[in-house]
Amino acid sequence: MAETIGLNNVAGAIGPSSLQGRPATVLRWLQDGHQRFLEGHSLHPHSTRERLQAVVEGQHPLAAVLGCADSRVPVELLFDSGFGDLFVVRNAGTMSTTAAIASLEYAVGHLNVPLILVLGHEACGAVSAALQPELLLTPSLAQVVGQLRMELLQYGDQLSLEQSCRRHTLSAAGNLVHSSVLLTDRLRAGLLGVVAGYYDLHSCSIDWMGEVEPIRYPMPADLLASGF
Ligand SMILES: [Zn+2]
Repeated sequence: MAETIGLNNVAGAIGPSSLQGRPATVLRWLQDGHQRFLEGHSLHPHSTRERLQAVVEGQHPLAAVLGCADSRVPVELLFDSGFGDLFVVRNAGTMSTTAAIASLEYAVGHLNVPLILVLGHEACGAVSAALQPELLLTPSLAQVVGQLRMELLQYGDQLSLEQSCRRHTLSAAGNLVHSSVLLTDRLRAGLLGVVAGYYDLHSCSIDWMGEVEPIRYPMPADLLASGF
């Protein structure tokens, strides 16, 4: 049974979706594609050699996705999309690493992608490893898993694996935006939406958890008004 986690668990970072314009249109396109997949009515668009040839000269993906490398979460299939449709960044644990942030800055800054989906999933091996401190890991894996463990510890040490996977997805989405001036600026301008989703392996469905809201720093006038 999926547990519902509120949208405010990452303080000030995730709120209910209020996207408008292109980000909202692209989110609906993603959701429609996923619905077709979910109902077993995938159209497998843009999957021919002709389509591939058509995008050789340049790519114009509609959305970007930060997801896990897990073989059970094949992003293009989940959203019934094909060549040139999605700009996908995947790594173990859906981590907002420097490389991931740089890749998504390229998608947004150079390819004008208006929407980023951060897609976590049920039974994530990297998150599971973070809950098992006794595991022996290679230095590189230990670095990633250690970062995950530190992140999850702020929520206490009683979280279930599902709770941890969900909270990590929200954290990854928030960290992605708050680590990037470019993404924050686009978000504030309404030119970009960053949404978080949780993929349930059993039902194949996605729980759309909300969108990232940029941190708003107080302006000098606000500070004066507050008696600072
Ligand atoms: Zn995973």
